[in-house]
This record gives sequence, structure tokens and C-alpha cells, in this order.
Amino acid sequence: MARKLPADLYPTEESPGLRVRGGTKYTSSQGDYRCGGCGAEDHANGDADVKALVEDYSANHGTAHRKGDR
Ligand SMILES: [Zn+2]
Repeated sequence: MARKLPADLYPTEESPGLRVRGGTKYTSSQGDYRCGGCGAEDHANGDADVKALVEDYSANHGTAHRKGDR
């Protein structure tokens, strides 16, 4: 599934969600999330890790909790 990453979403305790920062020539991309459904947090560095983090969040957290509610 080709999905454009959200460029600028900042999760906080009040506003959970997924945050992704694209890398530049000098820095690797970074991502992190705080799940509002279960409170899980995770962090990733580098394109591959950030992609995996986004997929994990999409599949298991965030709105995924509403689908199965498990
Ligand atoms: Zn969760």
C-alpha cells in the first residue's frame, strides 16, 4: 500500500498519534507515535525503521483499535 507519510503530526499526551519527520541529506528520518487506544509508544530512526513503525501503528494502533476493539 503506497501511502504518503504525514509530514508534521506531533503526538502529545493530550493529542496522541503518529509523527514522522523526513530525513535530509544530513539526518535520517525519524518517527514516533503515542497510541491513544492503548497508550503504547514507539520510536524509529531511518527510512526503513520509520516505514515499519508507520505500518505497525497503522496495523495495530490508532484507528486499528476501533476496527477490532481488542
Ligand atoms: Zn495501541
